Amino acid sequence: MSDPQQDYDELKAAGLTLDLTRGKPSSAQLDLAAPMLDLPGSELVRAADGSDTRNYGNVAGLPELRALFAPFLQVPVAQLIASNNSSLELMHDTLVHALLSPLPGAPVRWADAGRVAFLAPVPGYDRHFAVCERLGIDLVSVPMTADGPDMDEVERLVADDPSIKGIWCVPKYSNPDGAVYSDEVVRRLAAMPTAAPDFRIMWDNAYSVHHLTEEEPELADVLALAAEAGNPDRPFVFGSTSKITFAGAGVAFLGASEANVAWWLTLTEKRTIGPDKINQRRHALFLRDGDGLRAHMAAHRELIAPKFAVVEKLLTDAFADTPGVSWTTPKGGYFVALTVPDGLASQVVALAKDAGIVLTPAGATHPYGKDPHDALIRLAPTLPPLADVEGAMAGVVTCVRLALARAGTRA
Ligand code: PMP
Repeated sequence: MSDPQQDYDELKAAGLTLDLTRGKPSSAQLDLAAPMLDLPGSELVRAADGSDTRNYGNVAGLPELRALFAPFLQVPVAQLIASNNSSLELMHDTLVHALLSPLPGAPVRWADAGRVAFLAPVPGYDRHFAVCERLGIDLVSVPMTADGPDMDEVERLVADDPSIKGIWCVPKYSNPDGAVYSDEVVRRLAAMPTAAPDFRIMWDNAYSVHHLTEEEPELADVLALAAEAGNPDRPFVFGSTSKITFAGAGVAFLGASEANVAWWLTLTEKRTIGPDKINQRRHALFLRDGDGLRAHMAAHRELIAPKFAVVEKLLTDAFADTPGVSWTTPKGGYFVALTVPDGLASQVVALAKDAGIVLTPAGATHPYGKDPHDALIRLAPTLPPLADVEGAMAGVVTCVRLALARAGTRA
């Protein structure tokens, strides 16, 4: 086997500039939705219900687009809101509203509740954690398993502590480990006793239709299960078309119980006279129906599945027999989580940076940017062209081998 230091020196000398940091769609993926830019045109600005999309109004969004997405997000149409371009914004605003105005079932608004804390399954999505950090909501880590959060731990924590007001969940193709929540995990989340009467699940179903294989797993219906268990107001469901149409100009959705939706609309009506319905109309015309959406996502899959396959192949070729090195093989979503022996992740990221390959900072997948094991690296292969993903991953392999060699582990 070649000398890791020599390989690394050669990698550095190659002077690469490659980026595997963020889960962004590539230009080719964005091009798939290019025809949408010609819609609705001046002729089709009236929505299916006859309303004029150019005007103010309709804070809940266009019914035709809500109907299209309702089955995919598992929310009844009447309880699904279509908004502007960012679901992260909806999550942020929902928590701000909860701080300022009591949620249905809340004894007081969270700003008056003393400590407010959320459970953060780790590894998780850094922007969820950042919203809480910004708003003064404490984060309590709970481990992820292949089936979702460790439910014994979640149930233990929420049972006695009324300051734990919520949990972040990316239930399908979780960011970054690709986990799909099992029916049992969804049921337990929906039904578990919580000390906080105003406990909420932030159900960020960002990757509901983002399959990388022929399999199309269906999640258990969190809203229905919560209602059955007597906790109808527990889940807030989110989603968006950011990785379906345009990441910067999609449509975001929020779904919840009737009481939560009424609460949310009353507060949102204070900040807007209605969302961008022209964009919603454009989406409805372009995607057409469930089959149209599925066909569009299949075209995405054709573009990105080969990139994930390259990541898998290079990691397998290099580390199939290396103790302490493992990675996820996601069946959907946008990320691969690479685990290296404890204490090496930040070194690998630093080595890659010096060689011109930018990776997500080690620790970003944990609250406060601190991975106590310094072992996890999030890889995002969708944005660069395939050849660059291959080059970047070959470089990552070189960096991991060097870090292992320096640590005295077999490379
Ligand atoms: N949730 C998750 C889990 C994500 O990975 C992302 C994008 N990286 C978002 C939300 C952002 O969604 P939006 O573009 O709708 O704000």
